[in-house]
Amino acid sequence: MNLKRDWWVVITTIAITSFLSFSVSASDVTVKKINNLNGNTIKGVDISSVISEEKSGVHYFNEEGKKENIFQILKSNGVNYIRVRVWNNPYTESGNGYGGGNSDLAKAILIGKQASKYGMKLLVDFHYSDFWADPSKQKAPKSWQNLSYDQKQKSVYAYTLDSLQKIKQAGIDVGMVQIGNETNNGIAGTSKWPEMAGIFNSGSAAVRKVDKNILVAVHFTDIQKQGNDKWISKQLHDYNVDYDVFATSYYPYWHGSLSNLTQSLSDVSRTYNKKVMVAETSYPYTYQDGDGFGNTISKDSNVVLDYPVSVQGQTTALRDVFQAVANVGSTGLGVFYWEPAWVPVGPQSNLESNRLLWEKFGSGWATTNASEFDADAEKNAGGSSWDNQALFDFKGKALPSLKTFKYID
Ligand code: CA
Repeated sequence: MNLKRDWWVVITTIAITSFLSFSVSASDVTVKKINNLNGNTIKGVDISSVISEEKSGVHYFNEEGKKENIFQILKSNGVNYIRVRVWNNPYTESGNGYGGGNSDLAKAILIGKQASKYGMKLLVDFHYSDFWADPSKQKAPKSWQNLSYDQKQKSVYAYTLDSLQKIKQAGIDVGMVQIGNETNNGIAGTSKWPEMAGIFNSGSAAVRKVDKNILVAVHFTDIQKQGNDKWISKQLHDYNVDYDVFATSYYPYWHGSLSNLTQSLSDVSRTYNKKVMVAETSYPYTYQDGDGFGNTISKDSNVVLDYPVSVQGQTTALRDVFQAVANVGSTGLGVFYWEPAWVPVGPQSNLESNRLLWEKFGSGWATTNASEFDADAEKNAGGSSWDNQALFDFKGKALPSLKTFKYID
């Protein structure tokens, strides 16, 4: 996910939105069954912000409106995999969090333990940075910034090994580890091949050392750019990167057609004998903003929204991504929905008290503390720009679209 490219939209939205009450009347959704759905299909969600959300006072409710553990709600709705991002050290020297869930290893372990308790596997998404990593930025963690390439490779290995051992020692069922996040243009401050391949292999070797059964994934985006995935997968092959899963982000309003998604993933899978999946997707169910911090996708966004902006539209959009991956065949592993629980910490009318919660618990995109690491953080400081793409409403109640994971069978 790349916040930066739509920043002007966020500004505009903050400027023009006003408080609107909101309720979802749809009690159920229609989901066309998936053809050729693999029995082991990954039905995943990335809920990396959830601990910060709960610390900020957010509660989650099942579809009947009963307060329930969110992992129970997800499990009951067919989710079988949890993805969690890990930043090395998303804090200032005095311990103030950068936001975005303050997503450190300790939080990943808390989330992983809950996932395991409810019988769901964990995908650990190492960003190898102290804050957001995406095509526009792949900055090395603070403590690695003065390292030589050789030292950095060693640090990636040691950090991955140590982190993963701690996760495993907590009794967590790790199914997959991602070496980097949307690493089209670099990883851990390294931006050229074959050095990038060396970093990938350092992470990969550490995963293999801890547990040979854990799948190693690499993750890219912008699959709509012609030849992008072909070029990247060739680099991975030519520089002997050891991995199992080629993952891509696929946001329907940014990343081209579903048929291109299927074709591109099929080509990579067949050419290099790899598994493939969608590591991030989402779709808006409303144009409204729930928390006073403008949303990435709004009425003013310069994007084409092929599905209705409604709970049913969101449902169908997600269902169709599952179908596109299933169309790859048995090597198409499945889909992760990105941040479906990043709901408002308070209503839009309480902007000032929301701001205090975002800053204190890191439950928004960024806090003002993050500007020491990320130059964009100051203007990005605030709340959730994803609340209208969640699978829970603004008060934390499960939307009928959450049932997509169950209904696609
Ligand atoms: Ca918002």
